[in-house]
Formats: sequence, C-alpha cells, structure tokens
Amino acid sequence: MSRLLDALLSTDPIQRTRLAQAGLAMLMLGAGVAAMHYFAWIGAAPALGVLGWSLCTLLGMVVFFALIRSGWSRRWPEPSLTVPQMCFALTSGAVAYGLLGAGRGAVFPMVMVVLMFGMFVASPVQMRWVSLYAVLLFGGTMSAKAYADPDRYPPAIELGHFLLIATMVPAVSVLAERLSHLRKRSRLQRAELSQALARLREHTTRDELTGLINRRHMQELMEQEHQRCVRSGQTFCLAVLDIDRFKPVNEAHGYAVGDAVLRAVSQEALRHVRVSDMLSRWAGEEFVLMLSDTRAALARGGLERLHDRVSALRIIHGTAAVGVTLSGGLAEHHAGETVAQTLERAERALLEAKAQGRNRVVVAA
Ligand code: GH3
Ligand code: MG
Ligand code: MG
Repeated sequence: MSRLLDALLSTDPIQRTRLAQAGLAMLMLGAGVAAMHYFAWIGAAPALGVLGWSLCTLLGMVVFFALIRSGWSRRWPEPSLTVPQMCFALTSGAVAYGLLGAGRGAVFPMVMVVLMFGMFVASPVQMRWVSLYAVLLFGGTMSAKAYADPDRYPPAIELGHFLLIATMVPAVSVLAERLSHLRKRSRLQRAELSQALARLREHTTRDELTGLINRRHMQELMEQEHQRCVRSGQTFCLAVLDIDRFKPVNEAHGYAVGDAVLRAVSQEALRHVRVSDMLSRWAGEEFVLMLSDTRAALARGGLERLHDRVSALRIIHGTAAVGVTLSGGLAEHHAGETVAQTLERAERALLEAKAQGRNRVVVAA
C-alpha cells in the first residue's frame, strides 16, 4: 500500500503535498460527477450531456495530476497549479449549472467547497482573482441560459441566483484574507519563539563575560563524555587552569582591566584547544578544560602549549601591557571513577602547581 502511494504521489515531500492536494480536488469532483449521474438517472439532466461533461471533468483532473506528477508544472511560478485547478473546477461547475435545469441549485455548495479549498492553499491576491472569475463566469452562464432557455432558467430566478453568487463569493474571499493573515501571524510567532529559545539556550549554557561554556553546561558535557567513555572504553582528561596572582592585577589596574584580561585569556586559550575539546569558565579566574578521547601524556603536551601561549599574551591597557601566567592541574579519568573524583584529582594537581611556585602544569598521579 505504501509503495503504491509512493509510486502515485512520489517520495519528494513537496511534490507529495501538491499531489495529495490535487488528489483531494479529484475526489471532490468525483463526488460531483456521481451527483450529476444521479440527476441524469432521474431524468433531471440530459444523459448525453452529463456523459460528455463527466469525461471532460475527469480527463481534466487526470491531466492536472499528470502535469504535477511528471514535474512539468515546476516550470510554472506556482507548481501546485492551485489557481488553474480552481478555475477548472469552477468552469466545470458552471457547465453543470447549464445542464442541470431544475436541479442547478446543487452546484452552489460545490462552488463554495472549491473556494474553501482555496482558502487554505491560495494567497489573498489569488483568491480575489478566482472570486472575480467565479462571479463573471456564473453571471455569464446565468444570463446566457436566461436568454436562450427562459422556461427552465427564468430570468427573475437567475437574477436571484446571481445576487447570491455575487455576494457570497466575495465574502469567502474576505474570509480567505483573514485566514491568510492569521497564518502569517502564527508563522511569525513561531519564528520569534524559536529565536527566543535559541537566545535562552545561549544564555543558559554560556558565560556572559567570556563567552565560554558556563559551569552548569560543562557539568552536563562532562557527564555525557563520561557515559560515552563507559560505553566505548575510551578515556578523557580534565584540566583545571587558574590565573596566577590575579587579585593584584585587579588591584593595580581596576576590575575593568581584570575583565579584559579574563576575556583575552579565554579567547587565546580557545584558539589553542582542539575543536573536540571543551573549555569552560568554572569560577572567577578558573577554567576547566575537557580533552575527549585523550590520554594524559598527549593532553599534557597540549596543555603546556596552551600555557605558553597564554603566558606570552600581553593585554594593552593605556601605556601598560598586562601579562599573566597560568597554573594547571591535569587528571586522566580512570575506569570506575566518577567525574567529580577525576575533577578533584585535577584540582589537587593544581594546588600542587601553585605550591611548586605557579606558572606550570602538574599531572595528577
Ligand atoms: P593565585 O595565584 O593563588 O591563584 O592568586 P589569585 O590572586 O589569582 O587568587 P585568589 O583566588 O586570591 O583571587 C582571585 C581573584 O580573581 C579575586 C577576584 O579579584 C578576581 N576575580 C574573580 N572573578 C573576577 C571577574 O569576573 N572579574 C575580575 N576582574 N576579577 C575577578
Ligand atoms: Mg588565581
Ligand atoms: Mg582561583
């Protein structure tokens, strides 16, 4: 069944929507054809005329379906052929009106269904043109029949029918416009909502001052990496980095300069970690770096390079150039250990680096 649908409606989702829409229109016209045959059967409409009308209507719908299915309609500005299909259905309705005589009132609901169909798929401008076409088409049909066949189509009755069409059809067009506004507004609201969500996500996962990952998000990332390593048997390293004697920098130059140093150190460090590594601002002037899928020996090399780059950095402030150094503690995650335990060993290694005189990297046992 699904293979049959794939063959009939294609697997391209946009084409599928267009074809499903054409298929629905076909079903609606199919119901119209059945109704016409009922009228022919009870003798209210000429059998031959109804037969010819049915063949033309069904053939027209098959042609529309084939034009869309073959991809030919893509050459048109509107590949779903909504407006041509609506105009075709209305024309078919007008011909049915001319055939039905006393039963012609059955055509009115059909006209309304065609226009309602357009409310969901056509633009307000398209709806205005289609409505105008419907009013002119039925106006023309009614006058022609009233003139040529006044016994079955009395002019006074036709005038009444025309007034009905001329007021109801534009009303549907106005409703379509309202619907289109609502659709547009809800589309805009959806876009705004997803933007707001993205901003919120940025807000909750990033540190405002440095733009690095914040502590809370880093905790999540470390847990994820831990789970991944438990499954794959790989390992990762955690490093805790702390700026040496940062308090005196603030005291000598002020907090604004301290902040600028924090930002510069973060950016420089970020430039020298691998794309798969995660650098976060853990606390004031303390950072945590996670090196995924790496053993301590390799991580140490990377960390020392990062340490050298940051130490070489000079942040210009007025006439003075401020430089800082880093101390780092590095720990490789051991199987069976929790993230907190690995982090604790890295912090102890950092304390050891400070105790040894700062400006160095110490690897935990
Ligand atoms: P140590 O070498 O032992 O790490 O010395 P330290 O001065 O860096 O360490 P301590 O922990 O005593 O001081 C950290 C200082 O970092 C305290 C505070 O002035 C500064 N700090 C923390 N957060 C910020 C911040 O967001 N902006 C600025 N400008 N300074 C901060
Ligand atoms: Mg410090
Ligand atoms: Mg500190």
